[in-house]
Order: sequence, then C-alpha cells, then structure tokens
Amino acid sequence: MNFSDSEIVASVMTTQEYEVSQKAELADVIFLNTCSIRDHAEQRVLNRLRELQHLRKKNPRLVIGVLGCMAERLKSTLLEDDKLGMRIDMVVGPDAYRELPQLLLDVESGQKAINVLLSADETYADIAPVRYTEGGVSAFISIMRGCENFCAYCVVPFTRGKERSRDPRTIVNETRQLLEAGYREVTLLGQNVNSYAWRNSQSETHTGFSALLEKVALTDPGLRVRFATSHPKDISDELIDVMARHTNICPSIHLPVQSGSSSVLERMNRKYSREDYLERIRAIRRAIPDCAISTDIIAGFCGETDEEHQETLSLMNEVGYDFAFMFKYSERPGTLAAKKYADDVPEDVKTRRLDDIIKLQQALSLKSNRRDVGKSFEVLVEGPSKRSPEVVMGRTPHNKVVVFPDKGYQAGDYVNVRINDCSSATLKGES
Ligand code: SAH
Ligand code: SF4
Repeated sequence: MNFSDSEIVASVMTTQEYEVSQKAELADVIFLNTCSIRDHAEQRVLNRLRELQHLRKKNPRLVIGVLGCMAERLKSTLLEDDKLGMRIDMVVGPDAYRELPQLLLDVESGQKAINVLLSADETYADIAPVRYTEGGVSAFISIMRGCENFCAYCVVPFTRGKERSRDPRTIVNETRQLLEAGYREVTLLGQNVNSYAWRNSQSETHTGFSALLEKVALTDPGLRVRFATSHPKDISDELIDVMARHTNICPSIHLPVQSGSSSVLERMNRKYSREDYLERIRAIRRAIPDCAISTDIIAGFCGETDEEHQETLSLMNEVGYDFAFMFKYSERPGTLAAKKYADDVPEDVKTRRLDDIIKLQQALSLKSNRRDVGKSFEVLVEGPSKRSPEVVMGRTPHNKVVVFPDKGYQAGDYVNVRINDCSSATLKGES
C-alpha cells in the first residue's frame, strides 16, 4: 500500500515541476513514506532518518519529510528536534498528499510544516499515479483507503482513518491506461477489499467488490487480476464465484488468519472463529480446487497459551498454506489490545513460537511446490532473474515465482513452463 501511495506522491510532485531523483544524494527533498504496523518498522524508519542527516552538510537546503502512518501516529512530536535528536522539516499524513507542494513552500520560507488531517472522502481517485517501474508488467491499483475493523492489535484504523471506496469508473480507466502502457497484471489494493462499496448517487446503483473485480477482469482477457487483502469475515460466496468464472482472475487468495485459536481470535476482535475460517477455506476449495491460499500469522498475542499456539500450528497443517507472512506480536500504543490486555507473552516464548510457525510454513511451502513438479503453468515473465542473465523470472497464476532458461523472452510475455525442480521458495522449469 505504501508503494502505491508513493506513486501518488510522485504524481502530485511531478505535476508541480518537481522531478523524481534516483538517488537520495542528488535530491533536494527526501520523503520517507512510513509504516507503523510494528515497532520494528518504526525503528527502521528512525534509523534511516538519522543516516540521512549527514546529507545536510553537502546540501544545506535539503528538506527531509516524514509521510504516511508514522507521521499520522506521532504528529508534531516528529518536529521536536531536541527530543528526537535530529531535524525533520515536514510531517504529512496519508490523506494530505495534495498539500505537499504548498507545505514545501512553507518549508522553503523557513518554517516547519505539518498536515496530519484525516479525511472522510479522499481517495486520490483523479490522480494518475507515476509508476516507478517504467516498462513494468505488474502494477498496484488502490481501490479504497482506511479501515474501520479495529482488530485489537492493529494501528491502521488510527493512522489511515475511515474506510472509503474509490469511484469504480476511475479504477477501470486506470486499468485501461496500464494495459495501453504494456502492463499485464494488476493487483487491486485495500485493507479489506471485501467491504469495497460504491454508491452512485445519480443512477442509484451500488457496486460491491465482486462486481468491481468482474468489471476489471472484463477489460481484457490478457490482463491478470489479483487483489489483497480479504478479511475472512467478509469473503463472500459471490466473490468466490466471480473468481471461478473468470480465467484471468488469478486462483490465489491472501486470507490472513492471524491465529488458529477461536479464543485468541476473539481477543483480537477478528469476528470469526477457527471453524468459520475453515468453512470459508472449504468454500474456496469447492469452487476453485487448486486455489493458492496464503496468510498472515501473529505469534504471541496477549494471553496466548501454549495450547492456543498449538491450535495455530494445527490450523496451518489443516489448510496447508502455500505461503505466509509471519510476525511476533508488537504492542502498538493506543490500540484496543494496548488498552485492554497485558503484552504478557515473554519475548523468548514469542521467538520460539514464531520459529515453530516459520519452520512449519517452510515445510508446507516445500510440499506445495513439490506438488507442482511435473505440471505446466502459464508464466508471466517479469524480467531477468537476479542470479543469472541467462535465466528469466516470472510468476504462475498461483503467484509462485518460477525461474527458467531465457530463450529471448521479454517482460510481459506469457510462456508455458514445465516445472522440473523446486525449493521451498522457488519453482524451476523449462519452456
Ligand atoms: N488489512 C490486512 C492487514 C494489514 S496489516 C488484514 O486485515 O488482513 C498486515 C499484517 O500485519 C496483519 O495481517 C498482521 O498479521 C500484522 N500485524 C498487524 N498489526 C500487528 C502487530 N501489532 N503486531 C504484529 N503483527 C501485526
Ligand atoms: Fe488492521 Fe484489522 Fe483493519 Fe487489517 S482489518 S488493517 S488487521 S484493523
């Protein structure tokens, strides 16, 4: 999501005659688009901001700005040089990017600048994002902003504000422009895409996520369509049906479970139980038998017992995830969990549980990849592999990375590849 927001920022700035610089050393203005999801993410941003300060020696006019969730969470405390031990010139929250050029003028006149107002309707719908990957194959399209689910551990509803959906016409137009520019894959983005809702006041019509996804898929059969993220409480039969009916909607769902224990899920305020979740998995598999399923898991949430942790491992086995993002619980100030529960799982226990989860997922990913050996997939070529110029890299519809010998392929080509080997992270094949 931040990658996508940075493209909006680049668009706002370049229409005001600023240029994107490829190197921080050459820039007169440096914006860091930040994440607050875990304490570790914030510490990395602070370290990076400290590293950047030395550039002021060579360029005394250098402006350093903090954008995004950390700006929204920490507000004017980021402008207190003494407390912070460094200078930051600008602090701009995720709904105020249109104001960036004006705020820069304020900084150039010698003041510090801040705008952290959240909006109930800003979707940047009319801003055509400047794509950082020129000549790219795959692009993100933001379809909604904010979140009002208030999962107990999560800072997002506080830093990104109210949920709001973007006009579907602007989403379809952006898709068409991307196709014309040579893109072959789009990922529709939102914190909870299943609650996408657009009401057209003139025609009195309502567009939900399934209808939007179908509209995007119908723009061109040669365009692959993906989406993230689905909340398990909201993923509907209608959506699964739309996925099953369109071959260019990739058979791949990211469905973050967070925990396999119903009692932990209740403390997390996720609004589904282990059984509800497994029922949704069965519904997906009934309609799309080979659908890839990935997830997010948090180890060591408040009050998590060893039995509850074991339930997460058993659910992982039951679903047989193809891929997972796995984290240690990190308490975020102001969230429901921080107010209501003690962060009482000791650090070494969190680490051990996360290790269990990672080890199990590696085994599950390897198992999933081994099942693909001997099969053929249509792979969308993304470019040369990092390791060797004679090998190209691409993805299967199931979002698995495949490497195979280059026979003069270009980024954007669809190639039929037979898989003959794999690791837990990559498939290897031949065309
Ligand atoms: N909207 C998405 C998630 C966005 S945040 C959803 O609901 O699925 C991405 C992931 O970060 C979450 O799924 C969760 O696994 C993790 N996460 C969020 N807050 C966290 C915290 N306080 N500590 C550890 N992991 C966290
Ligand atoms: Fe956070 Fe929950 Fe919203 Fe996802 S759905 S962004 S985890 S509050």
